[in-house]
Amino acid sequence: MRIVLLGPPGSGKGTHGKRLGEDLKAPIVATGDILRQAIQEGTALGKSAQEHVKSGRLVPDEVVLGLIETRLGRPDAARGFILDGFPRTVAQAEGLKGLLGDGNGGGLDRVVNLVVPMEVVVNRLRERWLCSQCGAIYNVSTAPPKVAGICDRCGGALQQRTDDEPETVRRRLEVYLRETAPLVAYYERDSVLRNVDASGPAEEVFEAIQRAIGKS
Ligand SMILES: [Zn+2]
Repeated sequence: MRIVLLGPPGSGKGTHGKRLGEDLKAPIVATGDILRQAIQEGTALGKSAQEHVKSGRLVPDEVVLGLIETRLGRPDAARGFILDGFPRTVAQAEGLKGLLGDGNGGGLDRVVNLVVPMEVVVNRLRERWLCSQCGAIYNVSTAPPKVAGICDRCGGALQQRTDDEPETVRRRLEVYLRETAPLVAYYERDSVLRNVDASGPAEEVFEAIQRAIGKS
């Protein structure tokens, strides 16, 4: 299956995407990862991306699209993939459609949109603690460390990110919703969009995602 996963930070997109990938035996194609990899490998597209990143500019759509095309051309993506973090705009969605062909839904089987209310995201991120040494992530109510404030893995001190403070989270979510609204409408027109309520426990959300893609 060819799937696009949409969802704001705090929607559980990363976790659910990973599990869905294992279920479907399909690779997760995340823009951040392929950008980093291309820069590391020093490919032509990677070099071009690096110039933009270095000077603090957005990497142009044609460069990102080129990287996505290369990634989707690999054998492991032949039977399907899960796109995470791409497309972000209607222009990118049009570019993706150009890559995948003009079939139903622009060559996609499903676009799963994880919908989560503002206060749920705020609360989730407020409960999130990161290890200052190894980056392990904990949630004080759903995945707490064995000893409060201490990383299970390495013994490092746990801390919260200033990015996870309620005001910052609210602002980030507002920007996300404003920017992705046209994209959601675009995929709704193509009849591939499924909204999934991502406010409940992870297990329920994952089951809803499976129903949304017709796998349960
Ligand atoms: Zn640690």
